[in-house]
Amino acid sequence: MRVKCSCGSKGAIRNSKKESHDLSALYCQCLDVNCGMTWVSHLTYSHTLKKPLKPFKERNEPT
Ligand SMILES: [Zn+2]
Repeated sequence: MRVKCSCGSKGAIRNSKKESHDLSALYCQCLDVNCGMTWVSHLTYSHTLKKPLKPFKERNEPT
C-alpha cells in the first residue's frame, strides 16, 4: 500500500496499530528528508466483494 505526504512526496508506513476489528491506525513518515513529516492515517473496512471460503473466526478465540 502506498501513502503520500501532504507535500506530494512518497511516504512510508512505519508501524500500524489495530484499534478495533475493522479499524487500524497507520503511522506514516514522509520519505523526503527535507520534509520529514510524520502522521497517522486510518485504514477501515469498507465492504465485502466476495465472501470468505473459510468460516469467520470467533473474535475471542485463542490463536
Ligand atoms: Zn512530506
